[in-house]
Amino acid sequence: MLAKTSIKTTDQLKSFIRDIPNFPKPGIVFKDITPLLKDGQAFNAACQAIAEPFLNGKIDHVIGIESRGFILSPLVAYQLKAGFIPVRKKGKLPARVERISYALEYGEDHLEIHTDAVGKGHRILIVDDVLATGGTAEAVVKLVKKLGGEVVGVAFLIELSFLKGREKLKSMDVHSVIQY
Ligand code: AMP
Repeated sequence: MLAKTSIKTTDQLKSFIRDIPNFPKPGIVFKDITPLLKDGQAFNAACQAIAEPFLNGKIDHVIGIESRGFILSPLVAYQLKAGFIPVRKKGKLPARVERISYALEYGEDHLEIHTDAVGKGHRILIVDDVLATGGTAEAVVKLVKKLGGEVVGVAFLIELSFLKGREKLKSMDVHSVIQY
């Protein structure tokens, strides 16, 4: 899976993820991917590993979720020779948008996509850095389906398995490279 770099195992990749306790608020252990991004071999291996299950998936577009999803998803799109579509926070996209509101631990948040970004039957891969509770990815799946797209898969660098985010993505093909 990681054959083309000197990083051979996901445990090696894991060693580049840094835990930051109590960020951004008390009780959260933030998975900081910046040490991985800084290392050429690890960054390359991580992007390859995210793309690998979908190499033959005939993906038309990779969707990245603002903000950290924007770092990884264009590189995955490049490897799949697919286009890149941004899903952004409220008020950032300039043309007509489809918006979805979804529940956070406290309160709610909103994500937007251009209404003309996804066409009927387009084959879509959704990519983000971390799968936690799954609420964000679930919201993006709903946006894609509303526009008529087909979600071929949902891929993450990191999955926090203990938060059971997969349960919100039950009917989906979900892949993660590193699990905790
Ligand atoms: P969720 O909707 O709960 O699956 O949260 C996913 C989003 O929140 C992702 O876009 C992540 O970037 C971010 N996130 C959630 N928990 C963490 C964490 N422990 N470390 C880093 N990012 C996180």
